[in-house]
Amino acid sequence: MNNFFKASVQVLPSALVKTPGAKKTGRHTPGDKTTGKVWLVGAGPGDAELLTLKALRAINNADIIFYDYLVSEDIRALFPSHIPAHYVGKAKNQHSIKQEDLNQLLVTQAQAGLNVCRIKGGDPFVFGRGGEELLELRSAGIDAEVIPGITSASGCSTYADIPLTHRGLSQGCTFVTGHAEKSLDVNWAALAQLNHTLVFYMGLTRADEIAAQLLAGGLAADTPVAIIENGCRKDQRDIISDLHDFPAAVVREQVQSPALIIVGEVVRMKAQLQAQIWQHSSAESLLLA
Ligand code: SAH
Repeated sequence: MNNFFKASVQVLPSALVKTPGAKKTGRHTPGDKTTGKVWLVGAGPGDAELLTLKALRAINNADIIFYDYLVSEDIRALFPSHIPAHYVGKAKNQHSIKQEDLNQLLVTQAQAGLNVCRIKGGDPFVFGRGGEELLELRSAGIDAEVIPGITSASGCSTYADIPLTHRGLSQGCTFVTGHAEKSLDVNWAALAQLNHTLVFYMGLTRADEIAAQLLAGGLAADTPVAIIENGCRKDQRDIISDLHDFPAAVVREQVQSPALIIVGEVVRMKAQLQAQIWQHSSAESLLLA
């Protein structure tokens, strides 16, 4: 952890003591209640500095924390040591706790009067089962609220120098899950015709199916594809390929989860943007001179 980051963490809690906007919106601020409440907190994709101030406050004011496998080490390092923190899994094929049991656990902890921080990767409402947990909690009469996080599509694309939309290249962006019990329930022909940037979450093990279906739907074989592994973390890897080749690239490069697949012309922006680095730094050095 660098010094800048250490400093910013120490400064935040006191700066957050008052949040004047909270009452006006009718929403609570984490830690402002004496009875139990569950906060479903989005942790963002990995870089601890992408946490929202509100998420950090929910962490610091929790009586108990439940975190899943996408909550990065850097973020876990921010959990105060006196607050019990429990891993509740969710890595593919190795759930450490069943969703129903987890829902029940959140309910009983809140009923016991605890402030619960249920923290998960990215945004709880983007392929994060946040809606399911919120439904369960509210139907059990538990006070529960969601704190949004930066979803991995946004974080990973930004850290890879790939804008999700770009005038003239892509007028929209569609998030698709690659997770399904059997085959994916997606209207591939419609997806291929959208002329959107397509972002596949949990798509690694379905790379063959995604490529084949998009090609059959009419996307060109040379449509660029980026695979972002461990986005927004120290070991982020960006692999650039195309629709024809990317399933082979996943195998060749031994891509590991978590990884995001971005399909579309915007991927070409990466090379263009990175070609500007020299100009940028030389302008900077002129300013410093
Ligand atoms: N709620 C999360 C998504 C959960 S689904 C969010 O908003 O980001 C899990 C999938 O998200 C992973 O399989 C992967 O495709 C993607 N993902 C999450 N974090 C990631 C990261 N740091 N780098 C790359 N992909 C990530």
